[in-house]
Amino acid sequence: MDNQYMKEVQDAIVHTYNPFPVVLDHGKGAYLYDEEGNAYLDFAAGYAVCSLGYGNEEWNQALKAQIDKLCHTSNLYFHTRTKEAAQALKKLSGMDRIFFTNSGGEAVEGALKAARKYAYTKGTGRYEFIAMEESFHGRSFGAVSVTGHEAYRKPFEPLLSGVRFAKYNDLNSVKELVNEKTCAIILEPLQGEGGINLATEAFMKGIRKLCDDEGILMICDEVQCGMGRTGSMFAWQEFGVRPDILTMAKAIGNGFPVGAFAMTEKVAEFSLAPGDHGTTYGGNPLACAAVAKTAEIFEREDIPAHVRKVGTYLAEKLDELVDTYSCVVKRKGKGLMQGIEMTVPISEITGKALKKGLLVIGAGSNVLRFVPPLIITEKEVDRMITILKEILE
Ligand SMILES: *Cc1c(COP(=O)(O)O)cnc(C)c1O
Repeated sequence: MDNQYMKEVQDAIVHTYNPFPVVLDHGKGAYLYDEEGNAYLDFAAGYAVCSLGYGNEEWNQALKAQIDKLCHTSNLYFHTRTKEAAQALKKLSGMDRIFFTNSGGEAVEGALKAARKYAYTKGTGRYEFIAMEESFHGRSFGAVSVTGHEAYRKPFEPLLSGVRFAKYNDLNSVKELVNEKTCAIILEPLQGEGGINLATEAFMKGIRKLCDDEGILMICDEVQCGMGRTGSMFAWQEFGVRPDILTMAKAIGNGFPVGAFAMTEKVAEFSLAPGDHGTTYGGNPLACAAVAKTAEIFEREDIPAHVRKVGTYLAEKLDELVDTYSCVVKRKGKGLMQGIEMTVPISEITGKALKKGLLVIGAGSNVLRFVPPLIITEKEVDRMITILKEILE
């Protein structure tokens, strides 16, 4: 652990994070390494981003080749990677039209604007958003306005007006907030930052029906839970409930900063038109090369099938922890987006894990989160569990 290096970095940046005392240098598969060559088994994946793990030769080559050809054009000009990236996301997400962004927060921002523009074109006068308690949608003003944590919003008020919060998995609490001004309902099918809370099928279906009955748009934020993580390409597909607008990011670029929002044809017809929204970098050739190659590997290797298999194994192992240790209260989540609720401080566990060569992160106030690269093996799950047991004993 390079304390001098850490100190010099801290002197040069804004302190918005409490970083772990480690300086990472390179990675291979599901392992990261510091400069001295110490290995860290990675169950964080850079916040559920590095879906294919580290050092995937095919992916690396695709990006290197694209750097040599063309890095940027702006959206005034299509480039030779636009089509394959957009078509790939369209196919995998089950949506009709894609807008590329540079991050998850920007995807949410765009989704909210798309919903407002739809209402504007239709002349419905609808502008309010219903969001969920414990949700997380990003840090920009629109995204933070629909984020269900007081601490994230308070210092930046006044925020977007017309946002109200319902209880996750409580359909009646949503219904109580609906009125003739409700424009859209935004939710994560599996809440990440809020503590790995999985929506019930009844809740998702209930929201869909409510939206259909009342003329409200349903926005699913799958920035974290999308792209294979729950065992299907996108989580909504498991509920049989198609959103009107979908956001994605994190895993779709395997570490290249890229996000997207997508909409159905029905929304697109009345939503964003030329001049309404834009991004200078979004969907540039490098980003599209990253998305296209990631998507190609996902399909060819059937990553969701692998996630279902290893996710089931992980669930069994975590259930054993629940049965064995009184400080492990319950298991949460699905696929390779799971967590355990604990009665001991999560930062204590994550700190001890780091010293033993395991990267894990918290979610919410009392959940230890497991969001490894999606290529993780059962053997690596065993290794992680062994380290956790050493800490808990
Ligand atoms: C991470 C996350 C975001 C924000 O993504 P950024 O790329 O950090 O802006 C939005 N929504 C959800 C569900 C997330 O997990």
